[in-house]
Amino acid sequence: MKKRRSAVYPGSFDPITNGHVDIIRRAGILFDEVIIAVIVKPSKKTFFRTPERISLIKNSLREFDLEKVKVVSFSGLLVNYMKEAGSEIIIRGLRAVSDFDYEFQMALMNRKLSGRVETVFLMTDAKFSYLSSSIVREIAGMGGDISALVPGCVARKMRGQIK
Ligand code: ADP
Repeated sequence: MKKRRSAVYPGSFDPITNGHVDIIRRAGILFDEVIIAVIVKPSKKTFFRTPERISLIKNSLREFDLEKVKVVSFSGLLVNYMKEAGSEIIIRGLRAVSDFDYEFQMALMNRKLSGRVETVFLMTDAKFSYLSSSIVREIAGMGGDISALVPGCVARKMRGQIK
């Protein structure tokens, strides 16, 4: 039987945006299983707590083949989690040249930490190239309309939280 190819898409997802959803859809075309891994850093203050981030991701992916997509959280080194998950592929999204420096450094460092791990970069749709979770938090915080930037459940939850 052919081995199932799984890939891990790590990130803060604070909150998930339409740009993340676009990358998850593209990864789903390439891999049999996509594990969305929410990074938990106790020292980092986030807008949404981990369980909220996970449930917003799950709600945002309702129309996806759920057999293919899994949402988890992890703390510590990504390469350690990769071993636990039985995957050797990291997915990262690229928006612009400005993402490259940091992503290049991370990819090489992860390769140094584990020679088995490979990072695959997927280009976002041009219409999401300006979009980030931090800009969404900023706009929502000032009462701006984020409905075109994030899945409906995220927009509703942020509106409720900020009022
Ligand atoms: P991190 O805190 O690790 O940067 P994020 O949750 O912000 O995590 O992003 C996770 C991944 O998704 C990163 O590879 C990031 O470059 C990518 N990403 C974020 N926003 C977009 C977008 N609009 N289009 C494509 N990829 C994106």
